Amino acid sequence: MINETMAILGKERSAIRELFEQGKILKEKYGKDKVYDFSLGNPNIKAPESVKNSIIKLISNDDKSSLINLHGYTSAEGDKNVRTCISKYLDSTYNAKTDPNLIYMTAGAAAALSILLKALTSSSNDEVILFAPYFPEYTVFIKNAGAKCITIKPNLSTFYPDINDFKNKITKNTSVVIVNSPNNPTGVLYKKHIIEVICNVLQEKEKEYNHPIYLISDEPYRELIYSDDAYPFITNHYDDSIITYSFSKSVSLPGERIGYILVNPLCADSKKIFNAICGAGRSLGYVCAPSLSQFIIPDILGSTSDINIYKNNANFLYNNLKSIGYDVIKPEGAFYLFVKALEDDDIKFSKKALEQNLLIVPSTSFGVKGYVRIAYCVDESQIKNAIPKFQELYKNYKY
Ligand code: PLP
Repeated sequence: MINETMAILGKERSAIRELFEQGKILKEKYGKDKVYDFSLGNPNIKAPESVKNSIIKLISNDDKSSLINLHGYTSAEGDKNVRTCISKYLDSTYNAKTDPNLIYMTAGAAAALSILLKALTSSSNDEVILFAPYFPEYTVFIKNAGAKCITIKPNLSTFYPDINDFKNKITKNTSVVIVNSPNNPTGVLYKKHIIEVICNVLQEKEKEYNHPIYLISDEPYRELIYSDDAYPFITNHYDDSIITYSFSKSVSLPGERIGYILVNPLCADSKKIFNAICGAGRSLGYVCAPSLSQFIIPDILGSTSDINIYKNNANFLYNNLKSIGYDVIKPEGAFYLFVKALEDDDIKFSKKALEQNLLIVPSTSFGVKGYVRIAYCVDESQIKNAIPKFQELYKNYKY
């Protein structure tokens, strides 16, 4: 029998994808330069030179004498040397104490999250806490693992989680909490003080309920930070923490599908968790992440795409939208701007923006109402040309 749930999931596109598809139709009708597509978080900046150099080196040296089997299967959990290089890099960059034996290579952060949620939940009573607004696919991965999503509302002045709501919604069934910083969709960076508050709450609740509550830190935007703040590396703040990482955004490689899961060696039952990750990877068919993508990693650790381009886009959009009169959350990282819609219904507002050929994503899909997300990982010229359209949109509401 065909799985109805999966058929519905496959048929219904996410709000982001839906808008992206509408954009394609508009581009055919009006021309590419007359459509201002801010829908997808698809990096437009070239990957750093180190990526090209590494691929050329690997392909040129791919003969029988090579020590690696470039296009062959690696170990199910990933190549040992690659995992060791990642561990050393993280230890020296963040003063962490990681273990290559607790790193599992994956096809991007999406696979990492799917595997990990399957590994950390075991019944429909298990609750996974999300801080709204959140990356919409989390809900798909959680439901697929058979667990329940519990949403925490944001503090609307900081877009950090409302800590009282967080405290109240942790129960004996809470098994996992997901944090994502810099954040998609707000661009907010969770600074050290808020990470510490979240971790303190979790430590208290672990004691109260007498079982571990695992904190997943989903970090595809870890290197995309535009302020001087240091990144609070989660394993230095909370023992029961696990990282999901992706090279999709920091080095503009979303199509190469490469990332990893890292279990904190201080985690309760860290080895058992790693076994469960290997088991979940096996049961989902997510073994041996793409080999060529794995083998370039030792050569590119520490490189990023030119993030000054994103920083300039962020500043330009923020300043211009503010001066028009929009209420905008100050971007500190990732490549998203979160803007208050000019009417309560963000879906209607996004439709109104479409009349100006502006493609911006309504916030309902991210678990909060009344905002829109602008992905500014696009050409500078598109951003400049879109400003008069944002002005027109504003006039429709305010004059
Ligand atoms: N997590 C967050 C917060 C994201 O924004 C994305 C992609 O946009 C992912 C995970 C999935 O990334 P990947 O391309 O590595 O699967």
